[in-house]
Amino acid sequence: MRAYNFSAGPSQLPLEVLEEAQKEFLDFAGTGMSVTEISHRNKKFEEIVNEGTALLRELLNIPDDYAVIFVQGGASQQFAAVPLNLMHKGKADYVVTGNFAKKAFQEGKIYGDAACVASSEDKTYTYIPDVKSIPFREDTDYVHICANNTIFGTRYIEFPETKAPLVADMSSDILSREIDVSKFGVIYAGAQKNLAPAGVTLVIAKRDLIQEPLSICPTMLKWKVQDENNSLYNTPPCFSIYMATLVLRRLKRLGGIKAINEINEYKAGLLYDFIDNSDFYTNNVEKKYRSIMNVPFVTPDKDLDAAFIKGATERGLVSLKGHRLVGGMRASIYNAMPVEGVKALIEYMKEFEKENKA
Ligand SMILES: *Cc1c(COP(=O)(O)O)cnc(C)c1O
Repeated sequence: MRAYNFSAGPSQLPLEVLEEAQKEFLDFAGTGMSVTEISHRNKKFEEIVNEGTALLRELLNIPDDYAVIFVQGGASQQFAAVPLNLMHKGKADYVVTGNFAKKAFQEGKIYGDAACVASSEDKTYTYIPDVKSIPFREDTDYVHICANNTIFGTRYIEFPETKAPLVADMSSDILSREIDVSKFGVIYAGAQKNLAPAGVTLVIAKRDLIQEPLSICPTMLKWKVQDENNSLYNTPPCFSIYMATLVLRRLKRLGGIKAINEINEYKAGLLYDFIDNSDFYTNNVEKKYRSIMNVPFVTPDKDLDAAFIKGATERGLVSLKGHRLVGGMRASIYNAMPVEGVKALIEYMKEFEKENKA
């Protein structure tokens, strides 16, 4: 039996995509080779890259003057790539709404005058600062935010209006909800939450912003170079890019971002409603900012949390342990988590509550 995998990342992939990849694993597109064996210069592979980026442009409605590239090193590598490509004046603002946002900020400080202009650390990142009252500074190269906070389970519901280009880490919510790409200078996302297996990172960047990376920027981190080489400057993570393309095809078949967004809202709604109607489980995120991708929750005590996770695993509801910074449980319910998976979790939560309520 396949488990329902609630891991925050790498996460579950759609079953139909795994089956499709399995079917053509030994003979990719009539080449007589696996996609893990062919040259990245093979025309069939280049077609996959082109199809993947074209699907991203279509699904996310990405304007033509934006580069869409696949890079390596994970989202964490982009914490450095952002300043190395954009920090011409040596000054950038960061909004710190969680652990990854903080790491990006700390990386930014290596390269220049990076300032934390707003933070929700005072309440252990359980909310998003009001975007209308953030004191952004003048003359900055960019403003960096993290759109969805994977560990703490919060998300922006509206994005700040900024004079400087807005840069967003969307690793854990890319392709889960509708966004207006033209409002952003750069969007980046590690693939292993909503797009593909680990190994590839998506970057969407307005081309006129990326023409002059800093002179110290390593060639591999120059978005301009990756863009000019169609993400094939060096050997890319071919299998992950191939899987991303299969995931994107499926997303299109489902009806695109609007359709998946509705499903995601529905799934998250089921879980939050259940938690809110229970006096046994709690989610302490400010309601307005609750993520629809990552849902942290706790029972009344730590020992019960541990018993909950153990019992869940025995039922094939796996990887529900919360991040060590938060404890308790976290259900990550990305695009690939079927509604049935969320219902199975709620069913188990009901039973566990009945058996354990004092
Ligand atoms: C997972 C995650 C990261 C880190 O991604 P890596 O690919 O492991 O470097 C960064 N930001 C967010 C929002 C994430 O969810």
